[in-house]
Amino acid sequence: MKPGDIRIRVSATGVYGSDIHMWKTGKGWNPDHKGDFWMGHKFCGVVEDPGTSDFKVGDRVVFWANLYCGECDMCRAGQEHLCRDVNGTNHIGFVCNGAYAEKFVGPARLAYKLLDTVSDVDAALIDPLMVAYHAVHLSNMKLHDKVLVVGSGIIAQLMGDLAKSAGASLVAMSKTNNRKLAKAREMGKFDCYLDGKDPNRRAVYEEVSKGGFDVVFEAVGSASALAAAMDAVKAGGTIVTVGNTIDPTIPIDINRLVLHEIRLVGSVSCTRKEFEETIDLIASGMIKPERYVTDIVPVEGMQKAFERLTSRTDPVLKIVMKPDAKVD
Ligand SMILES: [Zn+2]
Repeated sequence: MKPGDIRIRVSATGVYGSDIHMWKTGKGWNPDHKGDFWMGHKFCGVVEDPGTSDFKVGDRVVFWANLYCGECDMCRAGQEHLCRDVNGTNHIGFVCNGAYAEKFVGPARLAYKLLDTVSDVDAALIDPLMVAYHAVHLSNMKLHDKVLVVGSGIIAQLMGDLAKSAGASLVAMSKTNNRKLAKAREMGKFDCYLDGKDPNRRAVYEEVSKGGFDVVFEAVGSASALAAAMDAVKAGGTIVTVGNTIDPTIPIDINRLVLHEIRLVGSVSCTRKEFEETIDLIASGMIKPERYVTDIVPVEGMQKAFERLTSRTDPVLKIVMKPDAKVD
């Protein structure tokens, strides 16, 4: 352990798309890095060695994976997620050892104590919830707004869930992958589910929303998903995109963007304050991210988990790794 580190026994780690990207390429997100580290960046555990920190042995903690510096202009402005040292990818489990393991050692300054009302599995899902929470903030959504979410993954589900809680009058999901549709319907809190591949989708969006959606969340990161969002948003409306992609350049209908005064906003991670608020959201019972988990696997089940998540036929929505889970 380095000065300032604590050691935890890992209780639960969420499995995410950015891990799949590294699993496929065999590399970390830092191009200079060979990828010789354990992944796992969304996790909680029990303190075994508090080092010199104020934590005590037995405290339950959740880690924020963002390795922000705390000193640059962005950090000082409370925009730690945009820290000049982080650059979108300088996270635990992206550039150094993460928590697909039984133990984890990392900086105490990134650990937050958990209340007993937050389960281990909920805590492993704080990260997608914080992404959804930050995106809803950036959208400037108002009471009674009509909201569309393009995509059906965990962040899409959580954005719909939060938008509903925040007072949207209509929350719809647009999706193209039928593999996940049944699961999305079963778990989701959406008012309706629309086919993003429908050639008449613009007319359908218009009809369902009675004139276009005030806010559209794009949670896929593809040309077709952004095009669907552009078709759905009403003039003067807002698209918040949280999807990112291996191919970073995708086309956009710039005329529609300009002539309809559409606000297109990128959204990544969240601020440190929002991270703390996300823990409170779960602790208060306002949202229960655990309900979106379809599978819990042990460390040895990770290979199969990645194979399932990249299968075109498996309906799995969200997998959480727990070291004490039973092997299938
Ligand atoms: Zn910084």
